[in-house]
Amino acid sequence: MPPVPDVDVLVAGGGPVGLASAIEARLAGLSVAIVEPRSGVIDKACGEGLMPGTVAELARWGVHPSGCRIAGFAYLQGVRRAEYRFAGGGGLGVRRLELHGALSARAAELGVERVAGRVDGVVQSATTIAAGGVSARWLLACDGLHSTVRRQLGLEREPGRRRRFGLRRHFAVEPWTDLVEVHWSEAAEAYVTPVGEGTVGVAVLAPPGLGFDAALVGFPELAARLSGAVAASSLRGAGPLRQRTRGRVRGRALLVGDASGYVDALTGEGLRVGFAQARAAVAAIAGGEPQGYEREWRRVTRDARLITQGLLAAAQSPARRAIVPAARALPGVFGFAVERLAR
Ligand SMILES: Cc1cc2nc3c(=O)[nH]c(=O)nc-3n(C[C@H](O)[C@H](O)[C@H](O)COP(=O)(O)OP(=O)(O)OC[C@H]3O[C@@H](n4cnc5c(N)ncnc54)[C@H](O)[C@@H]3O)c2cc1C
Repeated sequence: MPPVPDVDVLVAGGGPVGLASAIEARLAGLSVAIVEPRSGVIDKACGEGLMPGTVAELARWGVHPSGCRIAGFAYLQGVRRAEYRFAGGGGLGVRRLELHGALSARAAELGVERVAGRVDGVVQSATTIAAGGVSARWLLACDGLHSTVRRQLGLEREPGRRRRFGLRRHFAVEPWTDLVEVHWSEAAEAYVTPVGEGTVGVAVLAPPGLGFDAALVGFPELAARLSGAVAASSLRGAGPLRQRTRGRVRGRALLVGDASGYVDALTGEGLRVGFAQARAAVAAIAGGEPQGYEREWRRVTRDARLITQGLLAAAQSPARRAIVPAARALPGVFGFAVERLAR
């Protein structure tokens, strides 16, 4: 007799995509355990802008975090400015702690089991997969940018040479806009998101070696807005951002979220894409056809991969200075790209 697994689905990593995968799996009638080494509500360096599509997906799961309404995007470079307001419903600026708390509460309500620990030493048989002290029918690896499960499964690829990092800090200052502002300097971008009354988040995306304060000097208009404002959180970093994979499925294990590969945070749709992957992964395992996830993964990530890679290539070339003027001169193209990423 083959061994009886403890649960249908083992989720490695209790970040937002791991929790979303667990919720989706429970709603599909599967039993779920999440293995996560960190306890309590988990923070992370993030721009914290939830696209309209992300907010809609959360609502479908019964998750309603509080935050600041976001009406669209603005690109700024010196005195130049291009802006686009979402055609349909708006997005939300939500602190990671708030988002994680809301997803955790919903997962607990649906009976998702949480196991403290780290997934390591994945062992697969024809009918089960075991890791982190739990055996399951399926493993969803949602262990983030530096996924060790991805490496253990032999699905990691060389990330490429041009490394970028993200640094995030909150400031106690009244939000001055209902847009996510992306400020462009010669060397970095600063992503400014209103996240609540009296609080904005600033995420700086930059090559290695450029610190948060040094990067801010390159954004004099933003620095003036923040002048005298008290930091409302400690500095957090993430990266290198670019992570590549040679496949998303190995036997009974599927890579989901940042663990499945990541281009850059420049376009701010990471959670929307991660949530779409969660849905696709659960549909594939619920149907008993894990390989179908490979095709769906490519489909649900296509727009984000193409647009983000294209924008990043321009940002890392002499065309960088032309990005904000081009967004201003071609509002239809700018709006089209934002809408493709938003839903
Ligand atoms: C600077 C920056 C700005 C961003 N801005 C935005 C934005 O504005 N909007 C947006 O939608 N997205 C944004 N993103 C992207 C977004 O933050 C990520 O896509 C999202 O966090 C991915 O969630 P995840 O659950 O896949 O990974 P994570 O949030 O990294 O969670 C992974 C979890 O796995 C756990 N873990 C690690 N190893 C193991 C292991 N071996 N076993 C078990 N658990 C493990 C970790 O403890 C962690 O809790 C941004 C990213 C960065 C870096």
